[in-house]
Amino acid sequence: MFYTGLFAVVRCPAWSRGITRARSALAQLNTVVEAELEGIRGAGTWKNERIITSKQGPHIRVEGSSGAIVNFCANNYLGLSSDPAVIQSGIDALNQYGAGLSSVRFICGTQNLHKSLEAKIAKFHQREDAILYASCFDANAGIFEVLLTPEDAIISDELNHASIIDGVRLCKANKYRYKHLDLRDLEAKLKEAQKHRMRLIVTDGVFSMDGDVAPLKEICDLSDKYNALVFIDECHATGFLGPNGRGTDELLGVMDRVHIVNSTLGKALGGAAGGYTAGPKALVDLLRQRSRPYLFSNTLPPPVVGCASKALDLLMDSNTIAQTMASKTKRYKSILIPVS
Ligand code: PLP
Repeated sequence: MFYTGLFAVVRCPAWSRGITRARSALAQLNTVVEAELEGIRGAGTWKNERIITSKQGPHIRVEGSSGAIVNFCANNYLGLSSDPAVIQSGIDALNQYGAGLSSVRFICGTQNLHKSLEAKIAKFHQREDAILYASCFDANAGIFEVLLTPEDAIISDELNHASIIDGVRLCKANKYRYKHLDLRDLEAKLKEAQKHRMRLIVTDGVFSMDGDVAPLKEICDLSDKYNALVFIDECHATGFLGPNGRGTDELLGVMDRVHIVNSTLGKALGGAAGGYTAGPKALVDLLRQRSRPYLFSNTLPPPVVGCASKALDLLMDSNTIAQTMASKTKRYKSILIPVS
């Protein structure tokens, strides 16, 4: 403290000035965030989360509502998230392998369970190899920057999933975006991209918002013509599209022409969590060495692996389960009354 004429000036210690600055930074953060939240409310896009108090399934219990509610909005396409055999497999894996590995894969996070699921995924998709991720979001975030360099080009449908968009952002390849499902525009972009070393066409197999199916046969024809690779995100197709539930490529007869498949274990395949890339062995080997979400994130928990593994067994044992989705959709459509 010191005196300047009439007034005593109190000097605050450095730590208290630090706290004052931290408080003002927090106040600023709150102001900025509140304004943003108000904007979301004003735009009518606020997302309320309903709280489910039962297992996921066609009928669920929801906090605040009495009785069972018919659930049309999960991606539990085959009902396997509450299948007794899937649940039991998760319990068995929990008992045998524990809750988790407390590690990433390459340090000490790989169990025989993970290797066997990867082999099953590769077999299911009829690809050389497969690699697991904590989610398909991670699989999409982790692939493009490993595969493509500034010498290459990525040609992506404009309505691809957010995780593809983020993955593409992270990669240093030249970026082209074609109009949704528009083959003419795709061809124009492929022509433009001929100057690059490699070209990768990237599309959702099925687009989740409207259920559009990518014209994969025609896309593969263009990929042949312009020497491009084809990548599909099969989150909304794996397990139930095509005669054996292999996905959009099976449905459209191009399993041997699509080079890379990314998909999720978090929808039709038991619904727990996890994602993967299935494709050429050399690519999968490289992903294990370089893909950041794989290298720097914890391994999939054994119970999750156990559930997905059983879901795949069920699908590979017979195509009856895969076909339930098609027959239920048909039945539902037949009883829908058109609203005039
Ligand atoms: N790709 C598509 C098309 C999706 O719909 C989703 C999930 O909503 C993802 C990727 C991400 O999958 P995951 O939930 O396994 O991260």
